[in-house]
Amino acid sequence: MFFPAAFAAEAAESGSGQEASHVGSPVVDSPLRYDISVHIDPVERTLRGRSVITANTREELTLVIGRRFEVLKARVDDEQIGSSATVGAMRAWRIPGEEKLPRRIEIEWRGELSPLDTSLDHRQTLGQNEPVSGESGTFLPDSSGWYPYLAGELASYDLSMELPAGQRGLVAGRLMEESESSQGYRARFEFPAPTGGIDLMAGPYIVETRTIRSAGGKPIVLRTYFHREVADLAGEYLDSVKGYIDLYESWIGAYPFTEFSIVSSPTPTGFGMPTLTYLGLEVLRLPFIRATSLGHEVLHNWWGNGVYPDYAKGNWSEGLTTFMADYAYKERESDAAAREMRQGWLRDFAALSPSQYAPLTSFTSRTHGASQIVGYNKAAMVFLMLRDLLGRETFDRALQAFWREQRFRVASWEDLQRAFEAASGRNLHAFFDQWLTRPGAPAVRLTEAVRVKAEGENRHVSVTLEQTEPAYRLRVPIAVRTQQGEEIRTVDLENTRQVFSIETDALPLEVILDPDLRLFRHLMPQEATPILRQVMVNKTTVTVLLPESGPVRDAAEVLVTKLQHRAPKLIPGTDNMPAAPALVIGLQDQVDAWLARHELRRPEDIKGKGSAQAWTTRLPDGTTLAVVSARDIESLAALTRPLPHYGRQSYVVFEGAKAVSKGTWPTRPQAVKLD
Ligand SMILES: [Zn+2]
Repeated sequence: MFFPAAFAAEAAESGSGQEASHVGSPVVDSPLRYDISVHIDPVERTLRGRSVITANTREELTLVIGRRFEVLKARVDDEQIGSSATVGAMRAWRIPGEEKLPRRIEIEWRGELSPLDTSLDHRQTLGQNEPVSGESGTFLPDSSGWYPYLAGELASYDLSMELPAGQRGLVAGRLMEESESSQGYRARFEFPAPTGGIDLMAGPYIVETRTIRSAGGKPIVLRTYFHREVADLAGEYLDSVKGYIDLYESWIGAYPFTEFSIVSSPTPTGFGMPTLTYLGLEVLRLPFIRATSLGHEVLHNWWGNGVYPDYAKGNWSEGLTTFMADYAYKERESDAAAREMRQGWLRDFAALSPSQYAPLTSFTSRTHGASQIVGYNKAAMVFLMLRDLLGRETFDRALQAFWREQRFRVASWEDLQRAFEAASGRNLHAFFDQWLTRPGAPAVRLTEAVRVKAEGENRHVSVTLEQTEPAYRLRVPIAVRTQQGEEIRTVDLENTRQVFSIETDALPLEVILDPDLRLFRHLMPQEATPILRQVMVNKTTVTVLLPESGPVRDAAEVLVTKLQHRAPKLIPGTDNMPAAPALVIGLQDQVDAWLARHELRRPEDIKGKGSAQAWTTRLPDGTTLAVVSARDIESLAALTRPLPHYGRQSYVVFEGAKAVSKGTWPTRPQAVKLD
């Protein structure tokens, strides 16, 4: 087994990307160290390196390097290394266990790097796993095997790099030395804690530096490594990073590193690693990046790169980071903004097919939309429910203790559970067990609510809740609208059917189930309006392409591939309406004819508007139909780039590639009026 480690890598644009794969379960406090020196020439696209690995372990080890590299020398304790095996794009050596310590492995290697292709999108950049180089940028992802490493092991490192004059480069860690002459640029970095892998970045960077003080008084050096095109953004990025470090130091504990850098990438990507984030030039220019993704990446220095998730047991770090970054910023904005985010999570979940309901314990990293909906959003909501259960103060205290105890260690969901149990004095087994190991979500229904007519008073309601088998143990928020306002109660639902008696302060008029959407559950059809994402992520979706041939057909095929990221399941336009979510794409007349044949109509709100329209409809059998209709081939082709970003909408109207109108169809909560 090989565990090419890579750090949390993130799509900076929400929902549009994937994370590099995290595999394996590295050991704690690995007594391993790499001393690496590399020389990189971005013009020639060559790399030459030497590494000395010191291993204070008697275990058998596996040494790995990318096959594209030529190994010039490889010795283990001054003996020639044995023969290698080929595993995919890697070459591997088994190094038998040894009693005498420390063991010393020395390797020299060289090789050619792939040309940098700036036309790649984020997904392609991540999926490539190739070391790339060019004058405008070099990116050597850990997963490419650009340096020799011990598979599945954490290690500290010391790395020196040499680059031509005018270039700057970095890896995660502390910048120890730096010099530049006409001969070139040299820098040495040290990463003293055991860590999972090394990504190297270089480019014609302009570096801005600012030193701040951490909560404990130690200096933290903030830097931007920016291309000239975005150099003017350096000041505001440094300000934002300082703000985030202050926020999380006071919330969790001291920042665990000595620096943080923001590095621009010539490809449209977004990654987070310890001590730095690597963001595409275009991405850096987007105004919302500083307000959201940057904070998320800074927080990963605590969750993910400060405490390492135990991937074999489920990656908790994305959910916790989403909860304390993306979601926390919405809570600071307003109650309405936070509710909207929760609603988005639940709607996205409702868009999945049951085969995509993986349990949280099986989430390792984001590879497609469905795993993000579970691994990020469901997990974030589990933390929200936990905070609702324990209270904010206890919740935060547990996280602070977890941080103190687990810093630079591999920790699992069980370790988190223990921290929350210790802080609260409660047994949380049932809570963690059901939310982590059960796939899917509970479906809770408000089936009955009646006013209890007691002598002389009318302030009791009897509320019946039902859920499917096997029952979850849930705290269900119930709102009772009364003559004087709204009263919120929380009831403990543990059976498939339960009747609760609720006393109110004033005459009750209406009962509403979880109106704030604080419970992770399946939304009922009227609570979850159909959204476009359903036909993008739901794997059972069938697609009808109305143009039968020619360039219009080609444009429709490109669009569906961009929307679904998989080979679409095509059915002919003459078929009956399928009993699965369906996507129909065509030109206006074709769409009108198809709709007429199925006795459907365009929604009144968007009829006749724009050069193209996309909308959803819930069919009588409960399935979702999404329709994309364009005036002509140009209008259809113009949707390829923008439409995949509107998955959260029920409808979008385009003028060319610009969305001129969008929205979600109205929802209705589960409610019963009392008479
Ligand atoms: Zn993340």
